[in-house]
Amino acid sequence: MKDESGADAVVIGGGIVGCMAARYLVEAGRRVTILERSAIAAGSSAGNAGILAFPEIVPIPSPGITWKAPGWLLDPLGPLTIRPGYAARLAPWFWHFWRASSKRNFERGLTVQAALMRLAAAEFEAVRKDERLAAFVVNTGTLDLYDSEKSFLAAAPDWERKRAAGFDFHRVGRREIETLQPGLASRFEHAIYSDDGLQVADPAGFTRALAESLQEDGATIAIGEAVAIEPTEAGACIRLADGGTMDARTVVVACGAWSKRLAKSLGETVPLDTERGYNTTLPASAFPLRRQLYFNDHSFVVTPLSSGIRVGGAVEFGGLDLPANFKRADMLLRLAKRFMPGLETEGGERWMGFRPSMPDCLPVIDRSKAAPNVLYAFGHGHLGLTQSAATGRLIAELAAQQKPSVNLEHLRFDRFSGR
Ligand SMILES: Cc1cc2nc3c(=O)[nH]c(=O)nc-3n(C[C@H](O)[C@H](O)[C@H](O)COP(=O)(O)OP(=O)(O)OC[C@H]3O[C@@H](n4cnc5c(N)ncnc54)[C@H](O)[C@@H]3O)c2cc1C
Repeated sequence: MKDESGADAVVIGGGIVGCMAARYLVEAGRRVTILERSAIAAGSSAGNAGILAFPEIVPIPSPGITWKAPGWLLDPLGPLTIRPGYAARLAPWFWHFWRASSKRNFERGLTVQAALMRLAAAEFEAVRKDERLAAFVVNTGTLDLYDSEKSFLAAAPDWERKRAAGFDFHRVGRREIETLQPGLASRFEHAIYSDDGLQVADPAGFTRALAESLQEDGATIAIGEAVAIEPTEAGACIRLADGGTMDARTVVVACGAWSKRLAKSLGETVPLDTERGYNTTLPASAFPLRRQLYFNDHSFVVTPLSSGIRVGGAVEFGGLDLPANFKRADMLLRLAKRFMPGLETEGGERWMGFRPSMPDCLPVIDRSKAAPNVLYAFGHGHLGLTQSAATGRLIAELAAQQKPSVNLEHLRFDRFSGR
C-alpha cells in the first residue's frame, strides 16, 4: 500500500477511541487519516454494552479483591475465568494488578479515574450536540441491583465515593424496583437508581456514524495493517503488512488490545492484556426492558439497544489468539433468565470482544519517549466508549503541545516500569 492520503496525522485503529481521537484532531485543523486493518468498529467497539458509565470511578483493583478471585474462578457461573495455559503468561499483569489494589494505589486510581470521568462526561456532552450523532445517545436511567442486603451494604462505600465525586442516585426497595423494571426475580430488594444513566443505543452504528462524519469533515480512511512504527525527523513512519509505508507528522496508536505490538516496535513495553467479554443480543421482544440493569453481584449487565436486548459482561483471560468459548455467553444468558424469569432466550446473536486492559484499569494516554510524535491512546478496559471523547480531547492537546485538561502523570505508558 502506498500512502496517498497526504495526511499530517494518522490514527492507527478505527475503533471508538481512534475515531474520537481523529475527531478532535480534525477539529484542531489537522489533516487526518484513520488507518484501520479491517473495517471501522471491527474490534471491541462493535459489540459492547453501550453504557456511558461516567459514575464508574472506583477502580477494579481494590483492597481485598485478590482474595475474592479464587472463589470466582471456582464458580462455573462466576464472573471470572482464565483459559488453561494462559495463567502463566498472565503472571506479570496480575502482579501489577495486585500492586494497584493496595489502599494507597487504589485511592490514587480513584482520584485519577474521577478526574478523567469528569472530563469524559463533559466531552461526550459536547460530542452529542453534533446532530449527526445526537440520536445515538439516549437517557434510559440505570438500575444497579444487589442479591442481598449484605452485598448492598458491602457496596455502600463505593456509592459514597461516587456521591462525593458529584454523581446523583438514590436507594430503592422492592416496590420501586418493580415500578422501574417490572418482571425481575423477587430476590432483588436492594438497588440503586440513577435517572441520569446514559447509553449509546447502537455502539457499532455510533462508531461508524462518527467515522462518516469525519469523512464529511475532510478525514480519510485507509485500510491497511500497521506492523511497526519508526521515528523520523519530520514525525514518524508507519510500516504496513503489505510492505508499504505511511509518513505523518503525528501518529496516534489506538489499536485497542492490539496496541502493545506497535509500542514494542518502538522498544516500549506496556503490560497491556485483554479481558475478553461475551454477550448475546436478543430480539427486542425478548423482555419488556426499560433501562440498563447492572447485576452487580454477578458482573454482568443487560441493556436495551436499538438492535435488541444485550446480555453480557464477565471477564475471561485468554489472550488475543485463542478461539472464543461461547459457553461464557450462554452462562450469562442462564443467569439473566434466572433474574428476569420472563426473558425469552431464543434467537440471540453471540459475540466476544477483547477489552484492552491495563492492570490498574486506567488507560494509557501519553507520548512515546522513543518517538515523541507518536501518541498512545489505548488500554481503556471496560470503559473505552465512556472515555472515548475525553481521550480524543487529551490526544489533540498532546498533539498541539498544550497543557492537558487532566494530569496525565498516572496515565503514562511506562508507569509500571518502576521509574
Ligand atoms: C463485553 C463488553 C462490554 C463492554 N461494555 C462497555 C460499555 O458498556 N461501556 C464502555 O464504555 N465500554 C465498554 N466496553 C469496553 C469498550 O468496548 C472498549 O474499551 C473500547 O471499545 C475500546 O475501543 P478501542 O477503540 O480502544 O479498541 P477497538 O474497538 O478494539 O478498536 C481497535 C481497532 O484497531 C484495529 N487494529 C488493531 N491492530 C491494528 C493494526 N496493527 N493496524 C491497523 N488497525 C489495527 C482493529 O481492527 C480495531 O478496529 C465493553 C467491552 C466488552 C468486551
